[in-house]
This record gives sequence, structure tokens and C-alpha cells, in this order.
Amino acid sequence: MQIINPATEEVIKDVTEDTQESVTRKFELLQTNQPVWQKVSLGERVNVIRTFSDLLGKNVEHLASILTAEVGKPLRQSRNEINGGIARIKWLTDNAEKYLADETMTLQEGLEEKIVYEPLGIISNISAWNYPYLVGINVFVPALLAGNAVMYKPSEYATLTGMEIQKLLVEAGIPENVFQVSVGKASVGECLLDLPFDGYFFTGSYKTGKYIYERVAPKMVPCQCELGGKDPLYVAEDVRDIKAVAAGTADGAFYNNGQSCCAVERIYVHEKVYDDYINEFAKEVQSWKVGPPTEEGTYIGPLSRKDQLDLLQQQVKEALQKGATLVTGGTRLNQQGYFFEPTVLTNVNHQMTVMKEESFGPVIGIMKVRNDEEAIQLMQDSEYGLTASVYSSDKARAEKILQQLNTGSGYWNCCDRVSPALPWSGRKHSGFGATLSHAGLRAFVKPKAFHLRG
Ligand code: NAD
Repeated sequence: MQIINPATEEVIKDVTEDTQESVTRKFELLQTNQPVWQKVSLGERVNVIRTFSDLLGKNVEHLASILTAEVGKPLRQSRNEINGGIARIKWLTDNAEKYLADETMTLQEGLEEKIVYEPLGIISNISAWNYPYLVGINVFVPALLAGNAVMYKPSEYATLTGMEIQKLLVEAGIPENVFQVSVGKASVGECLLDLPFDGYFFTGSYKTGKYIYERVAPKMVPCQCELGGKDPLYVAEDVRDIKAVAAGTADGAFYNNGQSCCAVERIYVHEKVYDDYINEFAKEVQSWKVGPPTEEGTYIGPLSRKDQLDLLQQQVKEALQKGATLVTGGTRLNQQGYFFEPTVLTNVNHQMTVMKEESFGPVIGIMKVRNDEEAIQLMQDSEYGLTASVYSSDKARAEKILQQLNTGSGYWNCCDRVSPALPWSGRKHSGFGATLSHAGLRAFVKPKAFHLRG
């Protein structure tokens, strides 16, 4: 399999894809060694993961350059991602004992009732490329902390990063064959679905997630899906600083080239501040440097996947045919690499794909609304339910709106944000189950109830 640099379209490396045989062999090794890891004390498992985190910290520059080379994100954003991963590991390791240690619920004369959190066993982690450290860490770190063995399948677009992660985990002291990487495309993912894993944790598109969920259902093991989004944002007329709001929300839409599951994907603006907002938003977007991700100051690099260029072009074309106005951008750059101009569309509506289907790129549609009711109705009009945000100077008003939206996260005066202390979860086509927080630690264990008399 060839690893291609999306900024230059050059082949960085040839790697050997796994096969059904090699994946099965790796699975059997995980099966043999998982009980060894489970017997290691929780405290020791925490120490090993902390060492892994230290190694990430020591190797940030090296790891960031690999990440930028294979997924195309600007170097600064690659560093941010790795440092963000370190912060998540800190929360997970600091809280592992609290949520994974045995819990005595009743202790009285002649009776002890306690819960023991046993690992699920062998975890299949099929992952996405857009934040390979962050979405990987969400799964394999709590899984390992809880005593599971993990088969990590990085996306075919983030393979080298997956290999680096394995190297550092082994260096940190994960025993041999407790963490394995399976290298390859969808066909290798398929091989994992054929094996008897004890849990499937998937991050990726709705289409693949639905397929995997259906495919593993007969196994009767836990399956979690963290999928895409069409995350709405509403700007109310009482915001104090429209310039700052425009800059902050533009970043929420375009950071990582819009390739974030929780990127802002559609914006609704109260008519009283609409013109000012569009004006400031366009100025902000036009101020960004689009170019090689290795160059200082670049904010928009290439897209990671070539096929996204056509999808975005199609969304823009359809919107314009149906009456949208192009404020800026609109097409791919006429040069080597998968570059697409940051694109802002106004006069959009929900008959356009750009307001209904995930774009997962540097394209945003902005719509004018008359009041909160209209904003709520439009924000709800989606198959997805990952995040939603409201910008307003009134917290109660924002919370009232967010309560009415069927999403896993709600933001007031912020967006495109994940906290390790809070559950990360989707609703509807954005998936189900949670990672991060106490819920994300407990997702990798099965509680056993002990009733002890004597
Ligand atoms: P994708 O669905 O194309 O691929 C995800 C993974 O599934 C890859 O490793 C791929 O090789 C594998 N795969 C594909 N077909 C398979 C099959 N038939 N059987 C088994 N495995 C298979 O998604 P992607 O392009 O890598 O990621 C982008 C998507 O992920 C976006 O929709 C984004 O919103 C979503 N995402 C969600 C979250 C979240 O936390 N909710 C986080 C990151 C990305």
C-alpha cells in the first residue's frame, strides 16, 4: 500500500498490507497475552500509559512531521493534536483508579456487595484519519488501562502514525502482543469483523459505522460508533463583539481544514447582526494563508483525501445552481496537492446538500434567521446529532435552546471543542456510546456483581 503526501501527491512510503492470515495470527497473539496484562495491577498499567504519554511529549516534533506528511494538516495543528492527546491521557490516567477499581457498595455484618470491573477482553479499534492521535487515544488508552488487549486499525490515510503509536507503546512497557496494529484499507477492516473480538469500537463515517454495527450484531458483544456530524451554530442578535464571534466561529468551521467530526458545518445568524457577521467572517477567512502545511503561518493545508475534492466541488456547484451566493473561495487550487479554497456560501437553504450532508472540508453555508424558534427548527433539521452551539450574551437563553436539540454536546459561546472530563458521544446518525469521561473509562469493562456472605 502506498502512503501519499496530500500536499505534494508524492509517495512517502510503501507498506505491506495485512492479510486475513496475518490479522488472524495477531489476533491469536492478543488472545494469549491479554490475561497477562489483566493481571498487571491497575497502578502499574497507569504507569505504563503515563510513560507512553511522556514519550509522545519527547517526540512531538518527529511525530508531528510524520502526521503532517501523511494527512496534510499544518505542522502547528499536528503539534496541537499530539499535545491535546497528552492532556487527554492525563485525565484518563488521573481518573482510572476512581472509575475502574473495585467498588464496595454495601458492607455490613455478614454481607459485602461489590462491583468488580472486568475488562471486555480483545478490542477491535477501527479508526479514522482526521485526528489519529485524539480519536485513537479515546479508545486504546482506556481500553488498555482497563486490562484489555487492543487491535488498532488506523485509517489507511494515517498508517505511519499508527505504527509510531505502536512503537512508543512497546517502548513505554506495554507487554509484547497486548497492542497490535493492523495495516490496510477497508478489506483489512473486514478481516477484523470476521474475528471473534469482545468489543468493536469504531470511529468514522455513518455509512461504514452502520455497516459495521449490522455486521457484528450477531456476535452479541459491545459495539460503539463515533460517527460524522452536520454541526449547527446559531449567532443571536445580543452577542457583544461580532468581530470576535466571527473569528472564533470561522475557526470552528475551518480548523483542520474543516475535517473534524465536530467542525461547525452550518451557521444560522439572527437578521439583526447578519450583515456585520458575514462581513467580519469573510474578512477573517480571506486573511488565512492557504499553502504547504510545513510552512510557518499556513492555516489551510491540503485535504487528506483526494476524493473529497470532487465531493466539495459538487456541493458548491449544486448550492450555486439552487441560488446560493459565493462570498469567497469555491474551487480547488490549480496546483499539485489536494488544496481547496476556504469557501463561504450565503443565501443557502435546506434543499441544498451543503446544509444537509457532512462536507468534512473547508466549505460553510450561512443562513439568515428571524428568531430563536426558526434557528431551533433549522438546527434540528438534520439526520446527525453530534454537537450544536449558541453564541449569545444570555446563558439561560442559550441553555434553553441547547436543551431542545438532540445532540451529544451543547456549547455556549464556544464550538468545535472536546473535553476529556465530559462524555464524547453522538446521537442519531452521529453514533452511540461514549468515549472520554467516566463513561469512556467504563465503556471498556463489564461490571460483575459480587454478593459475598459469611
Ligand atoms: P471511513 O468510514 O471511511 O473509515 C473509517 C475506518 O473504517 C478506516 O480505518 C477504514 O479503513 C475502515 N473501513 C472502511 N470500510 C470498512 C469496512 N467495510 N469494514 C471495516 N472497516 C472499514 O471514515 P474516515 O474517512 O476515516 O473518517 C471520516 C469520518 O469519521 C467523518 O464522517 C467524521 O465525521 C468521522 N469522525 C467521527 C468522530 C467522532 O468522534 N464522532 C471522530 C473523527 C472522525
